[in-house]
Amino acid sequence: MAYTFKGGVHPGEHKLTERSAITNFPAPAHLCIPLQQHIGAPAKALVSVGDKVCVGTVLGDTPDALCVPVHSPVSGTVTAISARVDAMGRKVEHVEIDNDFERTRDNAVEPFTKPILEASAEELIELIRRAGICGMGGAGFPTYAKLKSALNANVDKLIINACECEPYLTADHRLLLEDPAAVIGGIKIVMRILDLGDATIAIEDNKRDAALLLRQTIQDELIRVHLLKTKYPQGDERQIIYAITSRQIPAGKLPSDVGAVVLNAATCAAIYSALVTGMPLIDRIVTVTGDCVQHPMNLRVPFGTSFADLFEYCGGFTAEPDKIVTGGPMMGSARFDADGVVTKTTSGLLALKQVKDRENGTCIHCGKCAEVCPMYLSPLYFAAYAKVGEYTRALEFDVMSCVECGACAHICPGAVPLVQYIRTAKTYIREHSPKK
Ligand code: SF4
Ligand code: SF4
Repeated sequence: MAYTFKGGVHPGEHKLTERSAITNFPAPAHLCIPLQQHIGAPAKALVSVGDKVCVGTVLGDTPDALCVPVHSPVSGTVTAISARVDAMGRKVEHVEIDNDFERTRDNAVEPFTKPILEASAEELIELIRRAGICGMGGAGFPTYAKLKSALNANVDKLIINACECEPYLTADHRLLLEDPAAVIGGIKIVMRILDLGDATIAIEDNKRDAALLLRQTIQDELIRVHLLKTKYPQGDERQIIYAITSRQIPAGKLPSDVGAVVLNAATCAAIYSALVTGMPLIDRIVTVTGDCVQHPMNLRVPFGTSFADLFEYCGGFTAEPDKIVTGGPMMGSARFDADGVVTKTTSGLLALKQVKDRENGTCIHCGKCAEVCPMYLSPLYFAAYAKVGEYTRALEFDVMSCVECGACAHICPGAVPLVQYIRTAKTYIREHSPKK
């Protein structure tokens, strides 16, 4: 039986690339690498214009804050350090590098040779920090900080999120099919850090091939593979924890408050790769797809590669897209051009035709949005109050518990831009909160 949660929706899967093996995207001649690719404080530049860098050289870091370092994916010369607006709309410093195509490795890049069982949790967590690893499912929270806080909490459940419930995206699915050993190796390192005797891989039942392969690759009984119902947003941390443990996270609390820690499958593979090869996080798998892309593909891409280069590599557009989305279509960030670069959280790059006009949506009071909300909220009220600027009423209806999954907007027959209203209300409340 597949496990699941209450509510949710079934958007069209559009997994056009599920059979497309991962292709290494050739490093471009010029890269533009943001010094903030994670949640937290931006890294401060540790290189200057004119410096020679190697593959794996630290470009920036701020070790005394919630931050992970950023490394160079190529060898070459730093040509500029400039502030630009990133995919999230933040103004972030970018280090620009001209690739010399020598692929010279930084001398500091060395595999961790000590047996894992002899390494302390703190030592392993510091290695994960130095490798620049953050959550690769899209959120980008620094993994070292998540593990540190889990160490200090009473965590007894390690759950690996292999759901990839967003339509179109297949990067994690391909990783599980092509390198299950790396994912399992990373899970074992995290089990060692948290001193846990077991772990659970949660995967949707539309990826039975990957689940089967994982079960065949796992050599013991310590890591279990649980099939979850294919339903959106099954990959949300709260829903995944509920589906596996029946534990509900109270509003305003974290997974560690209910004894659980959730890591994305690609994050586990990155941990394994960093420890075994010594190479920090310098690239990731990106699903480049959408109904406007000529040849949708899964590509392993160095950070700092431009979106335009990726679309070109995939044969360009079959029709002019109405929007470009980074991440999945439900929770990703939409933009109108291909002017951006791949970062640690770019799981997908989509070129799409607009399906619904949400500008003129009208509520018909059908109640469907409340039916599907996995957080048991009433999104129609958020929209009604946000529309007239009554944000405190939206707060009374608990708008801050919304995880912005977009399930309500997806189901809404009135095409009400629910998530936009919700984000506006949340931003206003945060800005005017007495705590701030
Ligand atoms: S689903 Fe849309 S139309 Fe129906 S109640 Fe919610 S906001 Fe209104
Ligand atoms: S109200 Fe928030 S949590 Fe609920 S369905 Fe809408 S976006 Fe998701």
